[in-house]
Amino acid sequence: MIVVGGGLIGISLAEALVKIGKNVTIVELKDRILSLILDSEASGLVSEVVEEAGVKIVTRRSATKIVGRKNAESEVGGVVLDDGTELACDLVVFVIGVTPRIDMIDPKQIRVNRGVVVDRFMTTSVPDIYACGDAAEAYDFTTEDSRLLPLWPLAYVGGRVAGSDMAGLRLKYPGGTQMSSLNYFGLPVISVGMTNPPNGEYEVLSNLNREIRAYRKMVLRSNKIVGVISVGKVKGSGIIFDLLKNKVDVGEFKQKVVSDDFGLIHLSEPVRLKMLRRN
Ligand SMILES: Cc1cc2nc3c(=O)[nH]c(=O)nc-3n(C[C@H](O)[C@H](O)[C@H](O)COP(=O)(O)OP(=O)(O)OC[C@H]3O[C@@H](n4cnc5c(N)ncnc54)[C@H](O)[C@@H]3O)c2cc1C
Repeated sequence: MIVVGGGLIGISLAEALVKIGKNVTIVELKDRILSLILDSEASGLVSEVVEEAGVKIVTRRSATKIVGRKNAESEVGGVVLDDGTELACDLVVFVIGVTPRIDMIDPKQIRVNRGVVVDRFMTTSVPDIYACGDAAEAYDFTTEDSRLLPLWPLAYVGGRVAGSDMAGLRLKYPGGTQMSSLNYFGLPVISVGMTNPPNGEYEVLSNLNREIRAYRKMVLRSNKIVGVISVGKVKGSGIIFDLLKNKVDVGEFKQKVVSDDFGLIHLSEPVRLKMLRRN
């Protein structure tokens, strides 16, 4: 069976198919699976467990054609990749993400980019027209720009803001960011915020333990966490998310955050007290 797309849902689907005894190949366009949320180190660790479970991963390739079976043309027989390789299969699933339907919007009237561009009140470039949820390009508090973030909790908050503002209550969208908590073939994976930062103003701290398949990477801007990846050992991830969300200065204890045993005890007392009061 061929799964086209090695993203969040594609890997889950591959796992489900393996569990019912199927032979699975994932075909991924990019150079690694889960490229939108993981760096190459973390993606490599996930690839290892996926491949150990018997799944074949083909990267830097896409499917261009589905071919029928030799004596039963109406049934799936294989998939042709963009380099001409044909992979035999009897089932193909495309899991290549979602794209907002911006074609129904006149870009001369309402500003669109990859989605419908909105401000912090979920208003589009035309007053009294709002957008939220998967269709909206809304504020990301880690990158401090607007982007598509198709996640249910963010759609919920954006919907409340849009609804309140439409009703006359001036609510401001606090912003969201990418956040994924996954478990593939028993390997826990957490990814939040900007995990593949561009060169420049960012500091990256990481801790890899290949033997036990544990990895933590933290991306900082001016000593504030803007992105984190945890694979294998995910203890303390809730605390890190709180530090990221509340833009806490972690300068004094940042090396501890990437350690395997990171916990509340490593926070300075004022930071710990503030966090406890918030929660
Ligand atoms: C397979 C899958 C798994 C997911 N898993 C997670 C997850 O684990 N965690 C998470 O946070 N998020 C997840 N998401 C994302 C989450 O579902 C979305 O972010 C959320 O549903 C967005 O809400 P929405 O209202 O913007 O869009 P939707 O929930 O997609 O609702 C849009 C509605 O609009 C209707 N519609 C479309 N076009 C028109 C039109 N022209 N006129 C009128 N109606 C129209 C559609 O039929 C639909 O009912 C997942 C998404 C998918 C597809």
